[in-house]
Parts: sequence; C-alpha cells; structure tokens
Amino acid sequence: MSLEDKLSEVGRNLRSSIIRELLKFAASPEAISFGGGVPDPNTFPRHELAEIAKEVIEQDYSYTLQYNTTEGDDLLAQEMSKLLTRIYGIEGIQRDQMLFTTGSQQALDLMARIFLDKDSICFMEFPAYLGAVSAFRMSFPRFETVPVEDDGMDVDYLERRLKEIDAKGEICKVKFIYTVPNFHNPASVTMSLEKRKRLIEICNRYDILILEDDPYGMLRFSGEPKPSLYKLAGPDRVVLLNTFSKVLTPGLRIGVILGRSDIVRRATMAKQAMDLCCPSLTQRIAARYLNRYDIVEQIKPGIELYRSKKDTMIKALNQDFSVIEGAKWIDPEGGLFVWITLPQGFDTIGMFDVAKSKNVYYIPGEAFSIEKTPSTSMRLSFCLPPEEKIVEGIRRLRDVIVEYGKQKGLM
Ligand SMILES: *Cc1c(COP(=O)(O)O)cnc(C)c1O
Repeated sequence: MSLEDKLSEVGRNLRSSIIRELLKFAASPEAISFGGGVPDPNTFPRHELAEIAKEVIEQDYSYTLQYNTTEGDDLLAQEMSKLLTRIYGIEGIQRDQMLFTTGSQQALDLMARIFLDKDSICFMEFPAYLGAVSAFRMSFPRFETVPVEDDGMDVDYLERRLKEIDAKGEICKVKFIYTVPNFHNPASVTMSLEKRKRLIEICNRYDILILEDDPYGMLRFSGEPKPSLYKLAGPDRVVLLNTFSKVLTPGLRIGVILGRSDIVRRATMAKQAMDLCCPSLTQRIAARYLNRYDIVEQIKPGIELYRSKKDTMIKALNQDFSVIEGAKWIDPEGGLFVWITLPQGFDTIGMFDVAKSKNVYYIPGEAFSIEKTPSTSMRLSFCLPPEEKIVEGIRRLRDVIVEYGKQKGLM
C-alpha cells in the first residue's frame, strides 16, 4: 500500500517537531540544555497529589473511574471559578462559560476547529508559540504575523495590516488574533497595559476575536501584574485559555477555556467528537487539590526557584556576553524563558553545529517562525538546569557564538 496515496491533506502535511530533532543529542550527561520548555519536576507537589489520588480513587470511584460530561467536573468548575476570580479579578463567571480541556493544547485545537476554514485569516505573533501554530495549521488558514516588541506585539503594525486587509474587502476572513500577553513563549516579554488597551480598541473596531493564552501569568517574579485582556474587554471580545501545566503539573493535562457561553458551547460540541471528556480522575484530583491547598501560596517556592535561576542566567549573560557586541536579551518579569537576539549576520540554526560540538543546546529562533525564516535569535529556558550548569552553559554558549562569529567573519 502506498501511504502517500491514502493520506488526507492533513495527514500528508504533518511534520515532526524541529525542536525534537534539534534536542536529540541534548540528553547526554555532559550536555547542558536550555532547550526544554518544561517545568522543573521538583516543583510538582507529588506527595499531596499522591494522597489525593488515593482518596479520590477509593472514595469517589463511581465518579473518578467513570465517564464524565464533556463540560467537565462541576467541583473543579467551582474551584476554577474561584481561582480565576482571584488571579484575574473576573467576577460573575457562569458554569456555561467554562470548558475543561486536555491541556491548553486541546483548547487551541478546538479554537481552530470552530473558527478556521481554509481561506480564514489568523493573526499570530512573531515569534510564535509553536503548539498554537501546529494546532491552527491543521485547518490550513492564511497566517498573518505581527512582530513582538519589548512591550508586546506591535499593535501599529497590526492596525496597518488590518486596514490593508479591510481595503481588499477581506476583513470578514480574519477570525482571531492569538496572543500570549504574559511572559511570552518564546519572546519572554509582557504586553504593556497601553498596548492591551490599543489591541482591544483595534479589535473592537474591526470586530475581531482575541485568543488570550496565559499559561505563565501566575509565574511572576517581579513587577505588578497587568490586567488580562479578558478582564479589560470581557467575553464579547476575548476567549481566555489557562492551564495547570506550568503552575501545578502538565501530567494532569488540564486546561480551561473561559469565554462567551455560545463559543464555549460550540467548543464543547467539537470536544465531544474528539475525546468525549477529559479524564474524570485528573479533574477530580485537581479539584480536591485546589480545595485543600491554596495554590497561590503553594507555588511561591517554585516561583522563587525560577526567579533565582533566571537571575543566575541574566547575571551570567551580563558578564560573559559583554564580548558579543550588539547581543540583546530580555530580563523577563516571569515565565520560563530568556530570548536572546544576536547581531545581524548570525544564524542560530547555522550555529547549532558549533553548539553541538560544545555540548550546549538552545532553540533557534527559526523554530518559532511560521515560514521558516532564518533568525538571529534563540530561546533559552532556565527552568531545568541547576544553577551551576546555567553558569557553565552560558560560558559555553559565549564560546559557541565567538567561534561561529569568527568562522563567518562577523567578529
Ligand atoms: C506551555 C504552554 C501551553 C500549555 O500547554 P498545555 O497543553 O496546557 O500543557 C500553552 N500555551 C503556551 C504559550 C505555552 O507555552
């Protein structure tokens, strides 16, 4: 059988993740990897979760080991609604405005299914979160990208593009704008309040939905929290995605969509066709965890750990990268990443072979572009390596850049 002949257009267009390919060698013991964007397992409350898991399996087995509604666990909904009110100041959340999803990744998939057709236009940030790109790509939309600046997406550029699209009579094809406003993955920046308001004003004018993806908002090390787009504009304009993956554990696979009830209803119907429901077991574990522990207090040591690692990385960059004239990086107020941009002429994919030879790993910026654009940037994650490895890794990375720069006559 020729598989190519049998495959659907989606099936034929599937590509394995470039990140996975690049990080194949990063697992050796001598390697220092800033590649993985996953939380530090030491932050997972494993004893608490183990105790709760035993309880809810033994006591609530007729619920936790059974099928569940597509909408999800009502106890989790109560707890989640309290949490969302607390962290975002959003009041009056109704049950039918919330849908639990198998991580935010499923929420992204659901949004693509209910909003995007082949000729739809979908606005992304550049660089973009790859998980969203791969979920949306399944619907073959036309991607438009808006550059991310130090204080969030370039809303002037967005406005200009929308004006051009409107002039061509295509504005009705624009379905949504996807944004990660807090501690962007991978750009590590946070959108300013002024830009949040401008974004909403522009989207109100052109009647475009905003998809606000906020997995990192609770992981703030410094500075004042900014109001969410949802809080500022409400469910008529914004669908908010949140997840336990970065603040509790990704292993539970629990995310939530908060939005207008008719949108949530559509997403629920689409989810039913995909997987009927999220696992009852992990939803109930999360519900009981939130009920028993104050998650905002519980994550404080984890935030301290990440803050300390981030400080170590920034300090090492300030010291070691002073020899690389024109290199820039963001000192993030939260999240898991530092985004570094090298001077013109560098190509972080081209540099990867040198990095491999020195056993230090990062994600080249090209991986976060939709059209595979060569990039002078790279994403470094500080969450996994211990602090002494961060220091050593940055030193190796400096040597990589200097060696590559000399090879290419850039330094
Ligand atoms: C990690 C991350 C997610 C979370 O995905 P889950 O499916 O909930 O694990 C969503 N969006 C962004 C931008 C992320 O970085």
